[in-house]
Amino acid sequence: MNEQCRGIILKQADFKDNDYLLTILTDHFGMIKMIARGAKKATSKNSYACSALILSDISFDLKGKDTLNTLKSISVVKSYKHLKNDLIKIAIAGLMSDIIIELCRDTNGEEIRLFTYYSKCLEILDNDDNNLLVLNLFLTNSLKIMGIDPQVDSCCVCGSKKIKTISLEHGGFVCGKCVVDYKNYDIDLLKRFRLVNKATIDNYKTLITYGPYEFKITEILYDFLSTYGDINLKSWRFLKELMITT
Ligand SMILES: [Zn+2]
Repeated sequence: MNEQCRGIILKQADFKDNDYLLTILTDHFGMIKMIARGAKKATSKNSYACSALILSDISFDLKGKDTLNTLKSISVVKSYKHLKNDLIKIAIAGLMSDIIIELCRDTNGEEIRLFTYYSKCLEILDNDDNNLLVLNLFLTNSLKIMGIDPQVDSCCVCGSKKIKTISLEHGGFVCGKCVVDYKNYDIDLLKRFRLVNKATIDNYKTLITYGPYEFKITEILYDFLSTYGDINLKSWRFLKELMITT
C-alpha cells in the first residue's frame, strides 16, 4: 500500500550492492525500516536524500512495522546544513539518533511524540550554539520516557531539602546525612541539573540564561541512561572523546 510521511533518517546502512537500508523516525508510523533501491549508485537522484540526519517527505510501500518497506520517492525538506559543518553537533545528533533507536525498541506509543521532540532538537542544534543544553534536554526527556529519570525535588533517601550531591546509586539528589562518600558538586551545577530535569526542549530559550551547561551534567544524565536503561553506545564514547580533546 502506498503511504506518505515525513521522516528523519536515523541511520543509513549498506544493503546489497546498490541499495541502502534506512532506519527512519516518521511523523505517522513511528520508527520504520526501508530499503532504498539503487540509492547507492552514483547516478541515483535519491543518494543525498537518503543520508543520515535529513528531514524528508517520503512515499513508500508499507508492508508492516517489523518488515522491510520499500522506498518509492524521497524529497529533502531540511538538511541541517549548519549542524553538519560542526563535528560536535554531528556527534550529538548521532548520539540522539542512536538513543531513539534504543527507545523505539521497547517503547510503544511514544514514537510520534519522539519525532516532534527530535525535530525541535535538530532545528535548535542547526540554528544555535548551546549544544549541551539541547543534548541535556534530550537526555532528560529520554529518561522520563523510560521511567528512570532522577529524583530532583528532595533527598531520595530521607526527603530532606538540604541537597548535597547526586547519587546514581540512590537515583537522584541526596543530602549529606544519607551518603558518606560522595562527589562534591558545585551548588550551581546542582541547580542546573534540577532545571534540565524539570524542563523540556520548549523551555530551551529560558534555560539559556541559567547556563552554561557543563559536560559534567551530560555525563551524569548519560550514566543514568546507561545504568538503568542498559544502554551502551559507541556514539557516546565518540562524543566523550571529542569533548575531552576539544
Ligand atoms: Zn537524606
